[in-house]
Amino acid sequence: MAGSDNSFDIIVVGAGPVGLSFAASLARSKLKVALVEAQAREKLENPAFDGREIALTHASIRILRELGAWDIIPASDKSPLQGARVLNGSSAFALRFDSLSGSGQPLGVLVPNCRIRDALFKIICLQDHARLLCGHSVVNATNSNQGAVITLSNGRQLTARLLVAADSRLSTTRDLLSIDADVNWLGHSMLICRVSHERAHHQIAIEWFDHHQTIAMLPLAEGVSSLLLTLSTNEADRLLAFDDDLFLAELTKRCGRRLGNLALASDRHRYPLVTTWAHRFCAPSVALIGDAAIGMHPVTAHGFNIGLCSQKQLAYRILTAYRDGRDIADPDMLRRYESYLRLSAGPLYHATNILVGLYSSERPAARLARHLGLRFAQHLPLVRHGISAMLKR
Ligand SMILES: Cc1cc2nc3c(=O)[nH]c(=O)nc-3n(C[C@H](O)[C@H](O)[C@H](O)COP(=O)(O)OP(=O)(O)OC[C@H]3O[C@@H](n4cnc5c(N)ncnc54)[C@H](O)[C@@H]3O)c2cc1C
Repeated sequence: MAGSDNSFDIIVVGAGPVGLSFAASLARSKLKVALVEAQAREKLENPAFDGREIALTHASIRILRELGAWDIIPASDKSPLQGARVLNGSSAFALRFDSLSGSGQPLGVLVPNCRIRDALFKIICLQDHARLLCGHSVVNATNSNQGAVITLSNGRQLTARLLVAADSRLSTTRDLLSIDADVNWLGHSMLICRVSHERAHHQIAIEWFDHHQTIAMLPLAEGVSSLLLTLSTNEADRLLAFDDDLFLAELTKRCGRRLGNLALASDRHRYPLVTTWAHRFCAPSVALIGDAAIGMHPVTAHGFNIGLCSQKQLAYRILTAYRDGRDIADPDMLRRYESYLRLSAGPLYHATNILVGLYSSERPAARLARHLGLRFAQHLPLVRHGISAMLKR
């Protein structure tokens, strides 16, 4: 049974980067918050490198700074992104995105996902306002207009006025509450590792759409890039089984020596690609944030950026209601959060999926369309500047 030790104003399920940010955003209140995480505490204290280098927009950096997390991330882990080039097949033509002229600011900053998690976890420990319950996953959840109840894998039951699901794109909490979602397994996987290379990257990212593969190279420290190779899942599994020498030879061949000789600079990571869109971002006494609400395709590098902005919006609405003595799970307030997220993230989610469809198709019509599309965009400064400005928001 849920006693006072098990009863909270808000339970957040998932201490990933979005769940942690949301809990940190609530620190200014006296709300009783529980943060429930399946992984053991030691894993959160020392998050392992997972291959992901997150391209943060300026808006995200501002939020991380407000939360106190930005300054905890070592400067050596922040790699400015000064531009990007999009290439199509063997064509020498490249669509260019550069920092807006005269601003001197980069388009964004790349930070390893584990360093973001580490900084946010440290903030949560320093603030000491949220109760961390690690090592047990949520196995049951129910909700009503009065509140929500969850059961952990150790049998412990917790109740709250508001339950916030931040437990990944394959959210168990979302499923347990019967909130439907579009879950699209794309049949492709992304292989990621860091490589050191001969040629300078000049802090410019390269996205290269080629036949049956997409390669992205994200510039990190001098002479080091993160290499992301998207392949059919079968092909990715085949490469993953190679020893280091064979794997490196395969990468070098597939990269067409764009950065000269390569050497492996980290272990490899594999992500099966799946995009998700929950049909509702709220339900009675429930809200969804981060990937549990919207799981973006990584190609446009916006999943965490959207999650970070949306958790801020939800926290702001909750803190305002709490300050004014109103219900922190007011259904109208939750619906306004849902509308905000739908309107702000919907166009990018759908545009990204169209782009992925166009660039992963081998049909002649799609190949012609992407060739023409890149040239068309290059001659429309508004399109290029619009995308650069969106990254710099
Ligand atoms: C290869 C790759 C590259 C990316 N690059 C970028 C980028 O450049 N820019 C960008 O903005 N985004 C990027 N993203 C997206 C970004 O990584 C995600 O949007 C972000 O991690 C989502 O954070 P989250 O906290 O919502 O979920 P997650 O990071 O998935 O965390 C969920 C947490 O919930 C916990 N959990 C799961 N189930 C349960 C349960 N039942 N009970 C308790 N706890 C549970 C998990 O252990 C985990 O800690 C990338 C993603 C990938 C895969």
